[in-house]
Amino acid sequence: MSRLVVQGGTVVTASGSASADVLVDGERIEALLAPGSVAESGDLARIDARGKLVVPGGIDVHTHMEMPFGGTFSADTFFTGTRAAAHGGTTTIIDFAIQPRAGSARQGLETWMARAEGHCVIDFGFHMILSDVNEAVLKEMHGLVDDGVTSFKLFMAYPGVFYSDDGKILQVMQAAADTGAMVMMHAENGIAIDVLVAQSLAAGRGEPMMHGETRPSVLEGEATHRAIVLAGVAGCPLYIVHLSAMEALAEVAAARDAGKQVFAETCPQYLFLDESLMAGPDLEGAKYVCSPPIRTRAHHDALWRGLGTDDLSVVSTDHCPFCMKDQKELGRGDFSKIPNGLPGVEHRMDLIYQGVVQRKITPERWVELTSTAPARLFGLYPKKGSLLPGADADLVVYDPDRTHTLSVAAHHMAVDYSAYEGREVTGTVETVISRGEVLIEHGAFKGRDGHGRFVRRSPFSGLAVPVSGRGGR
Ligand SMILES: [Zn+2]
Repeated sequence: MSRLVVQGGTVVTASGSASADVLVDGERIEALLAPGSVAESGDLARIDARGKLVVPGGIDVHTHMEMPFGGTFSADTFFTGTRAAAHGGTTTIIDFAIQPRAGSARQGLETWMARAEGHCVIDFGFHMILSDVNEAVLKEMHGLVDDGVTSFKLFMAYPGVFYSDDGKILQVMQAAADTGAMVMMHAENGIAIDVLVAQSLAAGRGEPMMHGETRPSVLEGEATHRAIVLAGVAGCPLYIVHLSAMEALAEVAAARDAGKQVFAETCPQYLFLDESLMAGPDLEGAKYVCSPPIRTRAHHDALWRGLGTDDLSVVSTDHCPFCMKDQKELGRGDFSKIPNGLPGVEHRMDLIYQGVVQRKITPERWVELTSTAPARLFGLYPKKGSLLPGADADLVVYDPDRTHTLSVAAHHMAVDYSAYEGREVTGTVETVISRGEVLIEHGAFKGRDGHGRFVRRSPFSGLAVPVSGRGGR
């Protein structure tokens, strides 16, 4: 087995920073050692990290590679998407397998496994989207948890597609409480939103801007509240995905203050992109159409505060790229037909690092939000998200001073625009190692498809569920 040492850098973990050398033996971290203490030897590769940060590889727990949508697929395959992720310092993704309607969850998992296995550059796991909750699928949840699919996503949005009503949500939450699974929620009131969408289109307002106008932040706040109440009745842990609104954040903060096992992620687009972008000329605004929609600066500021106070625990991307050509174009004149989603898997580490540059979060918090907390919440810690001896040798050497410009001309995602075109960021991924193998060296791709393995995740390991939350079951 090959050995290597990452030398002379500042090791940053969620718990602290120190000058240390990281010794890697095969796929695992062997030790963190005093700088310069590893003796020369012929079979030892050396990576110079002087002046750089050495951090655990990023973990993006919300991606959609090759996701079918209205007769098309999200533009990144598991190969191109994970290669782009690697370029951006992410060494593990958790994507979403989808239970087909009138089909089994197992079927969905097999479909997605066939798409991903042998094609990923970095390690990957799956959450399971339950799109058709019934008795059979509730029973299936146990077996899926045993096989390392320990989180289930439900939708309060998209009636007729992914939507589950409150009764179905409660049933899944009860089954999750029994199996130790996490329930993930897309919390927007889709029934009300669909009324607003229909009214807008009937009034001749089909432009991209109306996508945001018909999904007001209060309907995210309301759904978040309802999800928290239902999870409390069932006694299961709850994770709100892509939280974008201050009203939703207030609900999560109140639940956490009350000691509930409620967690939430936000995404870079909700921290950096202003809703006015959707008002761009012609179809320009379609570039920024995702759900929930990007919102105003007041929301951005509230979310940054939430990242600081741990009311928001994770930053993921909800990477779901669609090209302007042939894909976003489908929504010309009717915003409800614009494929929802933004490309971003490559830029998460860099964009959130701007919070360090601007002194909104510490470097340790940056690592926690992008790697350690996702690993803890989704059953990967300490194998991933840490630099403890025995952990997978997933490492990033990060140059905190070098600037670069985000652009379609420079990115590696298979999509024909950048949502961050022309934005200069401070901090650049230099070297990326996945289980001891160098994937990115001075910005150049050295990895290969098929290196990435499926990761079986453990059940949620949070605090004991309060007995009072079990609703007398
Ligand atoms: Zn998503």
